[in-house]
Amino acid sequence: MVAETELNFVLIPLLAASHIIPMVDMAKLLAGRGVTVTLAMTPLNAIRFTAVIDRVIGSGLLIRVLELQFPAKEVGLPEGCESADLLPALAFRRNFFAAIDMLQDQAEILLEQMKPKPSCIICDTHIAWTAETADKFQIPRIIFDGMSCFTQLCMHNLYVMKDKNEIPESGPFVIPDLPDRIEVSKGQLPGVFNPGKHCIQDIRDKIRAAETRAYGVVINTFEELEQRYVDEFRKLRNGRVWCIGPLSLCNNDNLDKAQRGNKTSVDKEDSLNKWLDSWQPESVVYACLGSLGRITIVQFVELALGLEESGCPFILVIKTGEGQAPIEDWVSKNRFEKRTKERGLLIRGWAPQVLILSHPAIGGFLTHCGWNSTLEGITANVPMITWPLFSEQFLNERFLVHVLKTGVSVGCQGVMHLGEEEKPEVQVNKEEVTKAIKKVMNKEKEGNDRRERAKEVGQIAKKAIENDGSSHLSLILLIKEIQEFQLNKS
Ligand code: UDP
Repeated sequence: MVAETELNFVLIPLLAASHIIPMVDMAKLLAGRGVTVTLAMTPLNAIRFTAVIDRVIGSGLLIRVLELQFPAKEVGLPEGCESADLLPALAFRRNFFAAIDMLQDQAEILLEQMKPKPSCIICDTHIAWTAETADKFQIPRIIFDGMSCFTQLCMHNLYVMKDKNEIPESGPFVIPDLPDRIEVSKGQLPGVFNPGKHCIQDIRDKIRAAETRAYGVVINTFEELEQRYVDEFRKLRNGRVWCIGPLSLCNNDNLDKAQRGNKTSVDKEDSLNKWLDSWQPESVVYACLGSLGRITIVQFVELALGLEESGCPFILVIKTGEGQAPIEDWVSKNRFEKRTKERGLLIRGWAPQVLILSHPAIGGFLTHCGWNSTLEGITANVPMITWPLFSEQFLNERFLVHVLKTGVSVGCQGVMHLGEEEKPEVQVNKEEVTKAIKKVMNKEKEGNDRRERAKEVGQIAKKAIENDGSSHLSLILLIKEIQEFQLNKS
């Protein structure tokens, strides 16, 4: 058997904070099992993660950074724009993917020189060229796309429907062949089934083609969370599915939690902690719509007023960059920050989300249902208020509301496509926001039962990563699989 120390797992994340975050966690877990991990990054992304990575390296784990130069200028992106969450506008996605494609040659030259030789590639699904690279190096390519097995299975069955032209243009329909009854409408589906005006279908097709060729899939989930979906998805992928999450749980000290993903915008974590300490357990609503989503000013106002009218203490994260100016304008003209200062806290930029969610004062998480956030909420034992925006987020919402039954929807009816943000189905009003918050935060039977369920599943999540837990065992099996592959090759 090839020794762990001779294995080199090459991790290639998509350059976006929310895709790099779980890969860095994965790198820590793998390196913790004694394998060498090579993490591909570009200089500015590496800076965002330096503190975390340096601490891991300092602790003696074998993580190396493979630095690739990002050709921003060559593809017409502003200098320094190396991450999807920093794009000046979503319309630049095509340029961004062109730059991602250009990283292949550099990466292959560096991989060629590497010692120990690469044993496998774990890459983000969106980096299609890694399929060719893995073929060249004759190593397995394992994909990671940050989705649950529930969503993977929904997507698979939706592809079957799409190929037969069976997705209804309008109205709700049930996704076939799932363990639960899951109803959606076309307008709520990811772009591949529900293209907007500015869709990048050709890029998606290329990604899909590379995805089907992958050796296996790693999933940021734990088996007990969605066992029936894990079993079904495993059948589809010849058994090569490894559930190794919740990845966020590998950050067990406050510094790691606070510095996860980016430099936090909260200058003094002490003051944030003091603020949270001043509230009763399970009384505060934390509202954050992820790193990629851009909410319109109209929707921000409904969110802010809905939070205010709920009467609950709240933290509201305002993403910096495109779209922030009109929001700040409204906040200042309406004295929103001043008038809610007794019980509201605005965080501008990057919030230390995992740290906040782990505080006992948090009683509800208003989320856009990105899978990282969804799983972080599950892991933190909190019920959720769901406001999906795009991508597979409506499917994650269905999982929380209809399968796990720890979520309450604000009632958004459609994906917010680029350039179509004003469509009526995308709109949510403050009354709906307030109603969903109150439903989650109330201390009556329905709210208490939901809270109990959230606590139970949160406890199971923590057990999954302990020694002998399901995710821990899955990680060991993944390493064993690569060891055996190497053995058979030699
Ligand atoms: N995140 C954070 N602070 C923020 C915004 C986001 O720490 O202010 C983290 C969050 O904890 C999660 C990730 O960024 O790990 C967002 O990923 P998700 O899949 O939920 O959504 P996306 O950003 O891809 O839409």
